Amino acid sequence: DVDVDVLALVNDTVGTMMTCGYDDQHCEVGLIIGTGTNACYMEEMRHIDLVEGDEGRMCINTEWGAFGDDGALDDLRTEFDRELDLGSLNPGKQLFEKMISSLYLGELVRLILLKMAKEGLLFNGKVSTALLTKGKIEMKHVSAMEKYKEGLSNTKEILTELNLFPSEEDCIAVQHVCTIVSFRSANLCAAALAAILTRLRENKKLLRMRTTVGIDGGLYKTHPQYAKRLHKVVRRLVPNCDVRFLLSVSGSGKGAAMVTAVAYRLAAQRKQIDATLAPFLLSLETLREVRNKMRTELEYGLKRETQASATVKMLPTYVCGTPDGTEKGNFLALDLGGTNFRVLLVKIRSGRRRSVQMYNKIFAIPLEIMQGTGEELFDHIVQCIADFLEYMGIKGARLPLGFTFSFPCRQASIDKGTLVGWTKGFKATDCEGEDVVDMLREAIRRRNEFDLDIVAVVNDTVGTMMTCGYEDPNCEIGLIAGTGSNVCYMEDMKNIEIVEGNEGKMCINTEWGGFGDNGCIDNIRTKYDKEVDEGSLNPGKQRYEKMTSGMYLGEIVRQILIDLTKQGLLFRGQISESLRKRGIFETKFLSQIESDRLALLQVRRILQQLGLDSTCEDSIIVKEVCGAVSKRAAQLCGAGLAAVVEKKRENQGVEYLRITVGVDGTLYKLHPHFSRILRETVKELAPQCDVTFMLSEDGSGKGAALITAVAKRLHNVGQ
Ligand code: ADP
Ligand code: MG
Repeated sequence: DVDVDVLALVNDTVGTMMTCGYDDQHCEVGLIIGTGTNACYMEEMRHIDLVEGDEGRMCINTEWGAFGDDGALDDLRTEFDRELDLGSLNPGKQLFEKMISSLYLGELVRLILLKMAKEGLLFNGKVSTALLTKGKIEMKHVSAMEKYKEGLSNTKEILTELNLFPSEEDCIAVQHVCTIVSFRSANLCAAALAAILTRLRENKKLLRMRTTVGIDGGLYKTHPQYAKRLHKVVRRLVPNCDVRFLLSVSGSGKGAAMVTAVAYRLAAQRKQIDATLAPFLLSLETLREVRNKMRTELEYGLKRETQASATVKMLPTYVCGTPDGTEKGNFLALDLGGTNFRVLLVKIRSGRRRSVQMYNKIFAIPLEIMQGTGEELFDHIVQCIADFLEYMGIKGARLPLGFTFSFPCRQASIDKGTLVGWTKGFKATDCEGEDVVDMLREAIRRRNEFDLDIVAVVNDTVGTMMTCGYEDPNCEIGLIAGTGSNVCYMEDMKNIEIVEGNEGKMCINTEWGGFGDNGCIDNIRTKYDKEVDEGSLNPGKQRYEKMTSGMYLGEIVRQILIDLTKQGLLFRGQISESLRKRGIFETKFLSQIESDRLALLQVRRILQQLGLDSTCEDSIIVKEVCGAVSKRAAQLCGAGLAAVVEKKRENQGVEYLRITVGVDGTLYKLHPHFSRILRETVKELAPQCDVTFMLSEDGSGKGAALITAVAKRLHNVGQ
């Protein structure tokens, strides 16, 4: 009728270590010298092959009593040890224990006395029935006989009770036998303990180590000289360890309660952490739902009646063909992404010596310019172009230019693009609703130093697809997983209702980052996603992007860490100044922390550099949080991509589709698991598509030049 929940099963050595560890935090060894002998100690997880995981330590119960069962101690074992073993319950087993523990020491003494008596060395050569009887001399007798002062009279009394008639000399000799047997026990135990201490010191890579050994057991506690002897020999064997021996007072029982209390605390914590991260675990069913919803939104964006209100905008790009290899010439390309601005000179050669050479310079866009006025932004861009032309020594040349502009643009032709709305970190005024090519032209005119022939404005996804398409004609999809998240693909003209004509294909920039802005994926958005959204430059917008791209993943992690800290599960419940800072937890730290090659201490160091003073347990939890956030991002991105490849398969009306996706973006390239999980998800959710992922090296800049070249070629043909 008692309700009991069994939380822990604990070895007595571990109980002893835990009991002592409660009083002395240095305690990392538990030792039992009583009826039996055994030891446990804290081993590094990375050395424990039997257990998954490399982080932290785990207590190992050595079961050292069995040392020697393979013959390793045979040259130390005496005829008495062999005789005792043969008469024991488990012959051949626990040989080390049989030389040490109290269950056997009395018996060893008896066997020695018996042999000495038989040889006439004791008791006038007389043997009593009692002395012939197994188990008649016990540990308590040995201890009594070795007692300082009363020892001799105790010995006489004990021997007399065994019906022996000892002389004074017999008693002294018997005492001596007892001492030899018990000292050998203490010496052997000290040697084994020294091995453990040496290992601990080497694990910690210390020249000198301070540590504590928790001890329990009747032999150690009651034998008059045992403890002293043991301490002395250990200190002699490991002079570079400062060892404290701590007697466990209420022993293994208290320890079991300690272990249970710790297990209970950890189990409760685990529950809370699991509950916090549960909304980030997406079932296959949920992912299928996301895929289907994405598919619906793709259709809405293409249809005339629905496209105006569609959240996935499906912008026509007026890119209608991939390179055919005849493109050639020198081109300028601009690449305005989410973080940097690059200017490139791209030299394309056609024919048999087909090649692309690129020269580029990267410029940072200061925050005050990203969020200043439109004029300032475009003046800055033109300033960078001027620097580059100067740097390359081509200031006078009027080169055709392609502008990779990684924001949603509604295009009316290949060189006209109206900015629909800023995304990522940009918020410059007076740009939304304006033509970015016009704005660039005006800025060039304002500067009045050089002229450029702006041929194409290109989304980065399209540039990436074109770059990979130059190598692999099967590449008809471009994916970006960088600061933002987006996809483009070649769509049949007949499905694009808002563009005239039904022949051939056109590349559609999906702008899928806006997926969910109508609330259709709110069921999987967590409170952390909502907090990140509310603190962003464009609340309510780009909801899918905010769950999947580099600009936001770190921030989601930070929100979770704050919540876990509030729950008292992290950083000792203290929300530090740095944890409060928006943006402190960059997505590159997710990549570092989640790297399989990183040891726990290194994770801790990264967190410390961020001003987050973490324990080892904290570091494990932070790593888990990062993993949950990045995994969800990769899965959601995979679900979206599955919708796109499935659509392509149905467009082509084939049972099975082979297709290549050109990919760019630092999240995809540098995160240790993102790309793998993305690929696995696509495979799972679009089983009838064989998708090859092709990394685009320097994709968007080169792509802009290629598009410019194609456009130029077609333009010339037209003229
Ligand atoms: P952009 O998308 O701005 O054109 P990138 O593709 O280089 O440029 O992406 C940059 C973004 O990638 C950064 O804003 C950051 O969020 C993320 N990032 C940077 N370093 C890493 C990294 N080591 N691992 C994962 N993501 C990273
Ligand atoms: Mg980019």
